[in-house]
Amino acid sequence: MKSEISIKINDKFKAEYAKGYPLITKEALENPDMLNTEGSILKLVDKQGRFLSKGYYGRQNKGYGWVLTNNESETIDQTFFEQKLTTAISRRQAFFNNPETTAFRVLNGEGDGFGGLIIDYYDGFYLLSWYSEGVYTFKDRVIAALQNVIECKGIYQKKRFDTKGQYIEEDDFVAGERGEFPMVVKENGVNFAVYLNDGAMTGIFLDQRDVRNTIKQKYAKGKTVLNTFSYTGAFSVAAALGGATKTTSVDLAKRSSSKTIEQFSVNGIDFESQDILVMDVFNYFKYAKRKELKFDLVVLDPPSFARSKKYTFSTSKDYTNLMKEAIAITEKNGVIVASTNSASFGMKKFKGFIDKAFKEIGGKYSIVEEFTLPSDFRVQKEFKEGNYLKVLFVKLG
Ligand code: SAH
Repeated sequence: MKSEISIKINDKFKAEYAKGYPLITKEALENPDMLNTEGSILKLVDKQGRFLSKGYYGRQNKGYGWVLTNNESETIDQTFFEQKLTTAISRRQAFFNNPETTAFRVLNGEGDGFGGLIIDYYDGFYLLSWYSEGVYTFKDRVIAALQNVIECKGIYQKKRFDTKGQYIEEDDFVAGERGEFPMVVKENGVNFAVYLNDGAMTGIFLDQRDVRNTIKQKYAKGKTVLNTFSYTGAFSVAAALGGATKTTSVDLAKRSSSKTIEQFSVNGIDFESQDILVMDVFNYFKYAKRKELKFDLVVLDPPSFARSKKYTFSTSKDYTNLMKEAIAITEKNGVIVASTNSASFGMKKFKGFIDKAFKEIGGKYSIVEEFTLPSDFRVQKEFKEGNYLKVLFVKLG
């Protein structure tokens, strides 16, 4: 067990921590320089030495670490982790019991009281993502705890930290048996090929589950669909299975093409009847305008920040323009699925970007669906910025 370091929180922030704010920020610390050992257990106290909460030191771009408990007598040991995991698992019983969905989030960082760690479930396998060197020092205890509280076929991990904040490529296998990849998981009955051992991403973003299902159930039938920033084409697959007449997937990454073919194929869809383009989305917009192409449904799900040869895109600066490009190639009465995972602004501001696009073009619209994170991506009410996902279905006309 590690010894605890008492660290003083300044007066401005102490009320927040007493109420349960989970992120330990530099600004809140009286003396941040005294922190130097990643993984140290921190006892947050006010200037008078009164206990506020307990957490650990782990540097991320977000802050200096996370609160783990508001109970002074609790020790951060394997039993503590077992309790966190048991609670998180019990909250997802409906997911564990649903044979139609075999991939979901089991522990969502601070939303489940354990900032810096994320655990996803993929059909019997568990994938742990560690977000700081500090949280990674708990690895052995967390893995032992997980194996104690639930049956795991195998455990994989992603280390999402290093000195430059870049992902480190290495063998991701940790314990149990190795999986065979691609592994095919289900989401509302739809198949997805995933890889737990191949780089930073697995092939599917689980947080868009409800959005994919809504496209499939309510918006795809008989429609032409353009999926921009399509990655492995997950939205295209949902649309095709929902009865879209044709899907067009556009992504700049070379491997997106074979990945998209794979996702169509594991669902028995003939990929040759779909368009899969490796291309800069901004060039595609120009091409579509020149050819006078229009789509009934356009999905816009850009990364928060992207740089290609010709264009730099930052969600918070450029979403309005992106939206204008999309409106120009959407049919009258068509729908744009506008999505962003940027944590740097909230839903209100996002709606503002969309409104501005229509104002500048002079068009009318209505918002027909609105999504934030799904229920397995649990969010803590004291930390609203944890709810980064914003998706609006915008109907033209
Ligand atoms: N919508 C996807 C996830 C998108 S991830 C899904 O639901 O699965 C972001 C993707 O944008 C990456 O695959 C990246 O290759 C792609 N990308 C980034 N900049 C791009 C650009 N200028 N043109 C096309 N694709 C781009």
